[in-house]
Amino acid sequence: MRYSTNQEYFDRAVELIPGGVNSPVRAFKSVGGGTPYFVARGQGAYVYDVEGKKYLDYVQSYGASILGHAHPGVTAAIVEAAQAGSTFGAPTPNEVYLAELITSRVPGCEMLRLCSSGTEATMSALRVARGFTSRSKIVKFDGCYHGHSDALLTGGGSGVAALSLPDSAGVPHGAVADTMVLPYNEVPILNESVAAVIVEPVAANMNLVEPEPGFLEGLRRECDRVGALLIFDEVITGFRVGYGGASLRLGVRPDLWCFGKVIGGGLPVGAFGGRKDVMEQLAPIGPVYQAGTLAGNPIATAAGIAALSAMDEAAYLKLEGRAKALADGLAKVLAEVGIATTIPTFGPLLGIYFIDSKVRNYQESKAAAASGIYPLFFHAMLKRGVALAPGSYEVIFPSLAHSWEDIEWTIDIAGGAAGEVAESLAGH
Ligand SMILES: *Cc1c(COP(=O)(O)O)cnc(C)c1O
Repeated sequence: MRYSTNQEYFDRAVELIPGGVNSPVRAFKSVGGGTPYFVARGQGAYVYDVEGKKYLDYVQSYGASILGHAHPGVTAAIVEAAQAGSTFGAPTPNEVYLAELITSRVPGCEMLRLCSSGTEATMSALRVARGFTSRSKIVKFDGCYHGHSDALLTGGGSGVAALSLPDSAGVPHGAVADTMVLPYNEVPILNESVAAVIVEPVAANMNLVEPEPGFLEGLRRECDRVGALLIFDEVITGFRVGYGGASLRLGVRPDLWCFGKVIGGGLPVGAFGGRKDVMEQLAPIGPVYQAGTLAGNPIATAAGIAALSAMDEAAYLKLEGRAKALADGLAKVLAEVGIATTIPTFGPLLGIYFIDSKVRNYQESKAAAASGIYPLFFHAMLKRGVALAPGSYEVIFPSLAHSWEDIEWTIDIAGGAAGEVAESLAGH
C-alpha cells in the first residue's frame, strides 16, 4: 500500500479521477466539502476506512446492498461462480434463474432482459417503448432520477439535484427535445404523441416522496387512454420496499419495469422487463436493438440470486420494523433540541427533511434542502461514526444487517449530533 490515510488517497484520487470519485454522489461537495472516507472493507452494517475507523453504514451502496456488506451467502456464491469462469459471451444458467426469480415475484413482469446497470435498464426500456409504440415523446417527473443517459438527464434527482445542475453540459438539446418534465404527484393529461411515461413509483432520489393516492392510478389510466406505456423505474424500490417491489405493494401494474441495485447483490446488474408483446420487440426476435458484452454476467447474476433468495417476506418485515423505529427515534431526538423534521418512511426506506411539513414534489424537496441543515447533521453524524449519504436528496438505507442495537445506537448518537447542529445554528 502506497497511501495510508483518507487524505493521501483523496489527494492522489483528485489528480487521477475527476473530483476524486467515480460517481459524483460520493463526493462531499454538496455537504460543504471535506475528505471522503476511503473504504478498506465492509462487514454487515459496518464499513471500515483505510485508517481503521469504523462507521455504521446507511449508504449501503445507495441501495445496492440490502443484506449488509460481505454477506456470507452472497460472498460464497461469488467465489463459486468466479471459480467457474467470469464471462463467456454465451448464455449461462444463472441468467435463467435470476430471470425466474424476478418475474416470479413481480406479477405482470412476463419477460426480462438483463443488463449491467440501472442506467442501461431505463435507457433500454425507453427504446423498446418507443419501438413498440412508434412514438418518440416521453414523460418524466421533476426530481425523479433515471440514470445518466442523455434523454433522461433532465429534471434532476439525486446527484444532479445536489449539484444544482438543471441539466448536464454535453447533452444536446435534441437528446432531450422529446422529454417532457412534469411535476411529481400531479396526473398530466397526455396525448397520442407520448410513447411512455417513466416514473419512480416511490420517489427516492429527491429524498423520499411517496405517491399521493390516485397519482399512479391516474398515470395508468392516462397511459391506457392514449396508448402510451407506463414504465416503473424500480431500480431503488424493486425488491427493497417489499417482496414484489413497489408495483405489488401499491397495486398499480406498469407495462415495463426497470430494476438494478438490489438485484445484483452488490455487483453490476440491471434489468428491464414487462409485457411479453413489448419485450418481444427486442433483437434478436424484434427490431429494437439492445446488447451488452457483460450483460447477465455469471458472477453478478450469482450474487443477485443469492441476495434475492435471502430476502423472504419475514426479512422485509424485519427490515421495515427497524426502519420505522429509526425514523421515530431520529424525529424525537431532533425535536428535543428544537430542530423541526419530517422523516417519511416507505417500507424500509427513510427520508429526512429538515422542514416540518409533508413533501410532495421536487419543489418542496428543494425548499426543505434549502434550510442547509442536512450538511451539518451529516458531518456531525459522520464524526460520531454514522455514515449517511453526502447529499440532501438521498434516502437512508438500513440493511438487514442493522441490528436493533445498531438502530438504538444510531438514535443515541443522533441525539449528540442534533445537539451540535442546534448549537451551531444558534451561533449563526
Ligand atoms: C440508481 C438509479 C438509477 C441508475 O442506476 P445505475 O446503476 O446507477 O446506473 C436509475 N433509476 C433509479 C430510480 C435509481 O435510483
